Amino acid sequence: MDFHHTDDAVTRRIKFFTDREKMLRENDLYFYNQPVEEIKGGSRVVVKGREMGMYASYGYLGLLGHPRINAAAKAAVDKFGTGTNGVRTLAGSLTIHTELEETIAGFKHAEAAITYSSGYATNLAVISTLMGRGDYVLSDKLNHASIVDGCLMSGAEFRRFRHNDMADLEHRLQQVPEGVAKMVIADAVFSMDGDVIDFPRVVELCKKYNAWLMMDEAHSLGVLGKTGRGIEEHFDMWDSVDIKMGTLSKTIPSVGGYVAGKKELIQYLRHASRAYIFSAALPPAQAAAANESFKVILDEPWRIEKVNANGQQFINGLKGAGFDTLLTTTAIVPVLCGSDERAFKLTQACQHKDLFVLPVVSPAVPEGLARLRATVTAAHEPKEIEYALGVIEQAGREIGIIS
Ligand SMILES: *Cc1c(COP(=O)(O)O)cnc(C)c1O
Repeated sequence: MDFHHTDDAVTRRIKFFTDREKMLRENDLYFYNQPVEEIKGGSRVVVKGREMGMYASYGYLGLLGHPRINAAAKAAVDKFGTGTNGVRTLAGSLTIHTELEETIAGFKHAEAAITYSSGYATNLAVISTLMGRGDYVLSDKLNHASIVDGCLMSGAEFRRFRHNDMADLEHRLQQVPEGVAKMVIADAVFSMDGDVIDFPRVVELCKKYNAWLMMDEAHSLGVLGKTGRGIEEHFDMWDSVDIKMGTLSKTIPSVGGYVAGKKELIQYLRHASRAYIFSAALPPAQAAAANESFKVILDEPWRIEKVNANGQQFINGLKGAGFDTLLTTTAIVPVLCGSDERAFKLTQACQHKDLFVLPVVSPAVPEGLARLRATVTAAHEPKEIEYALGVIEQAGREIGIIS
């Protein structure tokens, strides 16, 4: 390696990483960034010519490739072409964007909605627009990186409360000086652990301490609630969240992010958030695909039941075999391994037996809590999950994760 900047901090950082990746590759333990050649339904993929069961997808309802959604995307290309001539505020707004935003608002029981080009950009834009110097933002310790980045970018006082610990949250709310604006932000379903936020208590605390509440529903849209509308439907507590954030890239097989809420809030974001004003609009095909997806979810409620039944089967099977799956009750299932090395080994064993599943290791999760981060979707059949359970159990015994 020769960057002509011998031995400065940047060079050392890159070298450290390069060495780690090289070591993993030499030991056949590197499984990231594998190109998928073909997607067969929501549950199987072809990688390097080999068909594998898919256990790393966030397409919880198995909607990728749905004929109605594909048709909507194709029709939008025929009508509008493939781009948007720039930003929404100027020439980039299309009727399909306003249709999508109305659909989202309706689905989320909100007055209005705004879309951005990704979920990541949505969190950055929304948090940094609403919060600023002197304000307080309180964020769950396990919140997604895009929330953390949005909080840091906002310049507000940034406090992290212990994961899903409402006593700690209350304690931190009490420490905010009188009369100062505050916002509480959490994932509704946590992206690494799969557990659900203590929503009734969070809502109560936000009311008590006059704090804004923002929920990131990346992993609860289409999963929680009888009709898939998310955390408020799950607890039958409508109109509890001020800023209802979600992504269009997981359950919704498109790309983009949204916030739904009160009309004035959404209009403010439309005129004040930089990721909306200074970045191109969603492509027509993606906007139309997302729009149609919300309708499919309402027309095919069996998908929500099935992803939850599949999640239960998977969790129960793993627990029965002796694995620690933390507190998950959803389709995100952490399979704890301990050290990073064990997680890489379990991944390797699974991949060799045609399970497409990936490890999450430090620093993404704390040292000693390395895991497979496995997911199931509505596209899996019970016998596929049974096969996966068999493979994971046998490998887990061989590696010594379970006895
Ligand atoms: C994936 C994810 C995002 C980012 O969404 P993208 O649309 O992929 O940019 C935000 N929050 C959470 C909790 C996520 O899991």
